[in-house]
Amino acid sequence: MAARVDLHLHTTASDGRLHPSELVRLVVSRGLRIIAITDHDSTEGLAPALKEATAHPELTVIPGVELSTDIPGSEVHILGYFVAYDSPRFQRALVGFRQAREIRARGMVQKLTDQGLPLEWERVKELAGDGAIGRPHIAQAMVEKGYIALPQDAFAKYIGRNGPAYVEREKLTPEEAVGFVLEHQGVPVLAHPAYVNVLQEVLPKLKQAGLMGMEVYYGDHTPETVKALRAQAALLGLLALGGSDYHALGTPGEIEPGQVGPPLEQARRLIGLARTEKPLPK
Ligand code: AMP
Ligand code: ZN
Ligand code: FE
Ligand code: FE
Repeated sequence: MAARVDLHLHTTASDGRLHPSELVRLVVSRGLRIIAITDHDSTEGLAPALKEATAHPELTVIPGVELSTDIPGSEVHILGYFVAYDSPRFQRALVGFRQAREIRARGMVQKLTDQGLPLEWERVKELAGDGAIGRPHIAQAMVEKGYIALPQDAFAKYIGRNGPAYVEREKLTPEEAVGFVLEHQGVPVLAHPAYVNVLQEVLPKLKQAGLMGMEVYYGDHTPETVKALRAQAALLGLLALGGSDYHALGTPGEIEPGQVGPPLEQARRLIGLARTEKPLPK
């Protein structure tokens, strides 16, 4: 059955390839009823998405953001729904995260160049446009140069966490990211928990920090994983959320909006937790 909810979507405000308004039109054409825009370290996609959504009263758009954090051995992504994104302090922090992304992307381009795979920084910047720059933009530039066939090859061979051209950047800890979302009236949710190699250690700590949900429904999760995560979410009193994490890369097998998502009832409970007065979902 097609999903009616997708709470994890990227746009050109970060490393997605669809403009927020194009994404909204796509999800409407797929019959989705509740979506969240969750760009990396940016909420710039929200205003255009919410504007486009006014033409589609059947669709609810939840404002969101995705924050990258690190623990030894693993990346942990925290989603923040209903954050008070008009807060100047919140926006200042996001600007800082995006600046750190840019410095790090430059470092990776330099390392690749040093390793015999020269890239033009200007081209990488151009691919990122106004959006938060990330490794997918570097991967795209590498595909253009013919160094690799598909973006995922860049992660497997060069810019994955343990790759020879990977560069670290200052990140929050997962607990700090949960706190940061809570401080700005948001609902903190653990993204793609199956990617966290020490999940059983991390989950109780995040719950303690104020985590309110985790992604149970996700493209890479097998039915067994979904079942196990759903049980764990229920045990910890966490909402069982999720989505496609769609970037519109057009790669073979890419999970698209409508292919995976949580039940409407869980999304309605998420909406019930919203503390911000504006912008109110319809
Ligand atoms: P960054 O935000 O610069 O750390 O890059 C992380 C982003 O790269 C993720 O949000 C995904 O969009 C993408 N990504 C991570 N791992 C892979 C992979 N193995 N293959 C393709 N894209 C990936
Ligand atoms: Zn991404
Ligand atoms: Fe993520
Ligand atoms: Fe994502």
